[in-house]
Amino acid sequence: MSTLLTVISVNDGKIKRSSLEVLSRCNELASNNGMKSAALVIDSKASEIAEQLKNYGPDEIYTIENPIFKNHLNTPVLKALSTAVSQINPKVVAFPSTESSKDVLGALAANQQTAALSDMSEFDLTDNGVKGKRPVMASKIISSVEASGSPVIISVRSGSYDVVEKESNANIEAIDFNFSDEELQITLKEIISSSSDRVDLSEAEVVVAAGRGVKDEEGRNLISELASVLNAGIGASRALTEAGDYDPSLQIGQTGKVVSPQLYIGVAISGAIQHVAGMANSKVIVAINKDPDAPIFDIADYGLVGDLYKILPPFIEELKKI
Ligand code: FAD
Repeated sequence: MSTLLTVISVNDGKIKRSSLEVLSRCNELASNNGMKSAALVIDSKASEIAEQLKNYGPDEIYTIENPIFKNHLNTPVLKALSTAVSQINPKVVAFPSTESSKDVLGALAANQQTAALSDMSEFDLTDNGVKGKRPVMASKIISSVEASGSPVIISVRSGSYDVVEKESNANIEAIDFNFSDEELQITLKEIISSSSDRVDLSEAEVVVAAGRGVKDEEGRNLISELASVLNAGIGASRALTEAGDYDPSLQIGQTGKVVSPQLYIGVAISGAIQHVAGMANSKVIVAINKDPDAPIFDIADYGLVGDLYKILPPFIEELKKI
């Protein structure tokens, strides 16, 4: 029986929502096509994480546990993936589209001498591979793509599928893996992590994004307050990351992060194509802008025309009452 293998992405001991989205889609495809859906966890605490996966319906769960995976280093992860693929022999290897999957997707495909399709927004099976859609040119064009091979390696944009909870009584199988220091050839010198205790932008269910009209500390405080009330991640347009008002890691768009939350609130953002490329997949888009002709209103589900400094304080007060 063929297997669809989802590679689970983990951050600080927590499964990333985007992995569960991919797993849910693989579960659906497997059950519709008489196949098995398997999940693979490569982590320093893989067996603990594997237990959590039993709430999300895979038929099989594989782990590769080793202290070397405490930090993402390409070489051991690639070796672990190759080991797992040789053992499981899946038809498809599916990753969530993350910084770390970007790092290994192409290398794994080269290693397996097979095809890779990255950053897909939907995917389905064909007789000998995968087909689907892939946004390109800042999401102006949705290309149809298809690849055959064994396995086909894909990555899937976050927010493309819903997470479906489903109990599973899958066995957890540990895959043998050895890795010596000599194989590493890399020395990890330092990790500089963001000091923010905010919700991770790429995983956030709600995103509040600030644009150039947020011009001073009062405006930034309003953005923080709105984000706190909604338990939202904070993002920004390039106008504000370039001005140094927000960290570059918070930039949303073509040259920043791609987000696809349930709710995106753009505050004083005009809706330039390069920004829209990073948020167009949001489920519900709310725009606050004083210019009624701002392009962001063309894609917004709800629009508030007016000055953010007048709109946000009562808006936040009302939200606090909920
Ligand atoms: P503006 O376009 O200046 O819009 C500000 C908006 O705020 C206006 O609509 C105005 O009406 C409104 N406003 C002002 N004051 C108020 C107020 N008090 N209350 C309410 N509304 C108010 N941009 C990105 O964001 N992400 C990217 O990844 C990105 N990549 C790029 C890549 C390239 C190659 C290039 C050329 C550009 C890129 N840009 C990117 C820049 C992009 O083209 C825009 O310049 C940028 O998105 C504009 O940011 P903004 O909407 O905040 O500012």
